[in-house]
Amino acid sequence: SSLQSSALARVQPSATIAASAKARALKAAGRDIISLGAGEPDFDTPDNVKAAAIAAIQRGETKYTDADGMPELKAAICAKFARENGLTYIPAQIHVAPGGKPVIFNALIATLNPGDEVIVPAPYWVSYPDMVLLAGGEPVAVNGLEADGFKLRPDVLEAAITPRTKWLILNSPSNPTGAAYTRTELEALAVVLRRHPHVWVLTDDMYEHLVYGDFEYTTIAQIAPDLYDRTLTVNGVSKAYAMTGWRIGYAGGPKPLIDLMRKVASQTTSNPSSISQWAAVEALNGPQDFIAERGAAFEKRRDLVVSMLNQASGIRCPNPEGAFYVYPSIEGLIGKTAPDGTVLDTDEAFASALLEAEGVAVVHGEAFGMSPYFRISYATSEAVLEDACARIQRFCASLR
Ligand code: PLP
Repeated sequence: SSLQSSALARVQPSATIAASAKARALKAAGRDIISLGAGEPDFDTPDNVKAAAIAAIQRGETKYTDADGMPELKAAICAKFARENGLTYIPAQIHVAPGGKPVIFNALIATLNPGDEVIVPAPYWVSYPDMVLLAGGEPVAVNGLEADGFKLRPDVLEAAITPRTKWLILNSPSNPTGAAYTRTELEALAVVLRRHPHVWVLTDDMYEHLVYGDFEYTTIAQIAPDLYDRTLTVNGVSKAYAMTGWRIGYAGGPKPLIDLMRKVASQTTSNPSSISQWAAVEALNGPQDFIAERGAAFEKRRDLVVSMLNQASGIRCPNPEGAFYVYPSIEGLIGKTAPDGTVLDTDEAFASALLEAEGVAVVHGEAFGMSPYFRISYATSEAVLEDACARIQRFCASLR
C-alpha cells in the first residue's frame, strides 16, 4: 500500500516554492541567476516591529497564548478592520494563525464535506485549489479573461454556482495577476451572491496596501454589509509589513465560523509564535507611513516592468492595479524555437528555456490555472528588474 494518503495524493507541491528552490539551486551551483519567482517584499521588517519582538522576549512573553491569538493582537486587528475597512468585528470574531495560508486552510478544513465545491477564479494563487482538495472539497476553477483584467465576471460567477457550492474565494489585489476589484465590480458580484444565500465568501485581502495610482481599495463585507454574516475577511502582516518569516495571518468573520476555526487550531498548530504576535501588535498599532513610501517604490517598479516587457517581442503585459506581480501573455511566442532547439509549446517550456538561456527565473502560468502566461514578482530593486527585463527582451529576440 502507498505511504501517501489518498487525500494528499490529490495535491501538487507548490509550484512557486519549487520555482524558487530551482533558482536557488542553480545560483548555488555558480550560475548568474535573477529570481523573480518569490512572492515576498525585498524590504526589511520595520525597526519598531523588530524592537517590539525583542522587548517581548525580554519581558518573558515566550509562553503559549490562546490557540487562535492573544487578546492584545485581536484588539489590534479589530482596530485595523474598523480603521481601514469600516468593518466592525469584536475579538470573538477574530482568528489568528501562523500566516494567511493556515488561516485559509483552517476555514476550509473546518467547513468542507466531500463533494462540496469551492469557486476559485483563475488565474489563482497556487494554494487555493490544493488546499480545497486537501480539505476534501472540489475546486471549481472559473476563468477570468485578460480583456476583463482577469477578473471574475458576475455572469461567470452565476453560471458556476451549484447547490454544492460552499465558498467563493476572492483575492484582490490578486496573486498572480495584480488585478484589484473596484467597488462597482464587487457590487456586481454581490448582486449574484445575494441570490445564493448558501454560498460563503472568503476574501483574501493580503495585498490590500499594495494598490497604485488613485485606485481605491475596498473589500466585499464593507461594500455589501448584508453579506457580512457569510464573509470571512482574510488578511495578514506578511506582505504589508514585510514580515513573511514571522508567520502571522488573521481573519475576521461570523462567530460560528471563527469558533470552528479555533477548534481546528486547538488540535493542530496551537498558537502562532507569541513573539511574532507581539511584533504584529506593533505593526498594526504603530506608525503606518512607511507603507505608502514602499508603495510608491513598488509602483515605480511596476511601471518599469510593464513598459520593458511590452517592448519584448511577442510579450503583451497588462498594467495591473496592485500587488507586486505582473502576468504577461506569451501567446505571441508559443510555437517558436529557442537557440538551443527547444520548441516553446507551453508556458512551462518558455519558463524553463528562459531560465536556461538567460538565468531569469519566473513562474509559468499553468501553475496559476491560465496559459500561456507567466508571472513575474517585481519585489526587487529597479536595477535588478532592468537587468532581468533586458534579458527577457534578448531571449524573445533570439526566438525563431
Ligand atoms: N494569500 C495570497 C494571495 C498570497 O500570495 C500569500 C503568499 O504568497 C498568502 C495568502 C499567504 O501569506 P502568508 O505568508 O501569510 O501565509
